[in-house]
Amino acid sequence: MSFTKKIIVAMILGVAIGITLNLFIADTLASDFIIIKVFSLISNLFISALKLIIIPLIFFSIVCGILSLSDDVSLSRLGIKTMTLYVFTTIIAISIGLLFSSFIEFEAILLTNLDSSISLDNTNQKTDIFPSNIFKSLSEGNIIHLLIFSVLIGVAASRIQDKIHTFIEYIHQFNMVINELVKIIISFTPLAVFCILSKTFATQGIETLAPLMGYFLIVVFSLFIHLFITFSMLLKIFTKLDPRKFFKNIKDLIIFSFSTSSSSASIPFTLNTANEKCGIDKSISSFTVPLGATINMDGTAIMQGCATFFLASLYGIDLGISEILTIVITATIASIGTAGIPSAGIIMLTVIFSQVGIPLEGIPLLLGVDRLLDMLRTSVNVSGDICISCIVASSENKINEATFKS
Ligand code: ASP
Repeated sequence: MSFTKKIIVAMILGVAIGITLNLFIADTLASDFIIIKVFSLISNLFISALKLIIIPLIFFSIVCGILSLSDDVSLSRLGIKTMTLYVFTTIIAISIGLLFSSFIEFEAILLTNLDSSISLDNTNQKTDIFPSNIFKSLSEGNIIHLLIFSVLIGVAASRIQDKIHTFIEYIHQFNMVINELVKIIISFTPLAVFCILSKTFATQGIETLAPLMGYFLIVVFSLFIHLFITFSMLLKIFTKLDPRKFFKNIKDLIIFSFSTSSSSASIPFTLNTANEKCGIDKSISSFTVPLGATINMDGTAIMQGCATFFLASLYGIDLGISEILTIVITATIASIGTAGIPSAGIIMLTVIFSQVGIPLEGIPLLLGVDRLLDMLRTSVNVSGDICISCIVASSENKINEATFKS
């Protein structure tokens, strides 16, 4: 069985067993044991292993990438291009979310019994852009600081390349070792996908969907449109790459990020897919992928747009042109500030709601469906990172089209 088939089977089995556990043997000792002890243990081990390699993976691949870029001008061109495309696609994403939400009338549901116990301070926001103590930043898992530090080391090293042959050789060899480790961890994906999905559906169930069906469906529809239409159009306009082949290349990654609900934890898999399946040169992907996982959240922006519209209609707040503009601008900034971890997007909604004047008490109402939406939007977030990486790489002539097509 191919790797892709194994992942798809694992996903279907995971969802089926999770729902069965939830419906039939919930709250029994046996299901508690299976869910809490076995599934949680394996899922947590897998996610921890991924997190463990993120820091060395980003550091070594960025330094290697910069050493292979010809000069500082290429680096700044790469930075500007990537950032512009990330912000551009985020604005398209929010506009899609708002547009489709405006087409339907959300039926008023009772805004009572809201569970206001949601923790709003768990945002992991990136406030200080520039690192002052790299060890502190690393221990906090601050990816932006790590990116800046790695770029600085890469630039410094590339200026004295002729004098540091041993250093460069070590960096390349460390990079090879880390890449091998990534492959080993990724080989456990089918098992991990099965455990994560069984656990999620066993604890979540599907009955929580009912009262929020309208909102749920509009987010899902907007996510699909953005994933398949916007990204295909971008690839058609900016590259000669075939969108169908693009989706074939990234299908494992879509399932993987769906299961982890975390762009950050998906970085090793995203980098691997970018290089091995899409043929993107490491000098590009080592920069665009970790940056995208941290700041590019199209799926999150779509959810934030829809959620704002949804709750504004429930609270009877009229959204005029100036409010819509405020939502687009704040949601762009909020999605950039959203950490690539599960549920970060819903917590960042507080920023948008405060700007537009929607009561924060509405947020817990969305929680019933947010687990599932989080999975779906994370797939879109990560697909956006890799789509933009393809565009940037092809504009720099750093994509191996034979690998992309094969
Ligand atoms: N879980 C999402 C991600 O990691 C962020 C979000 O909650 O929207 O990309």
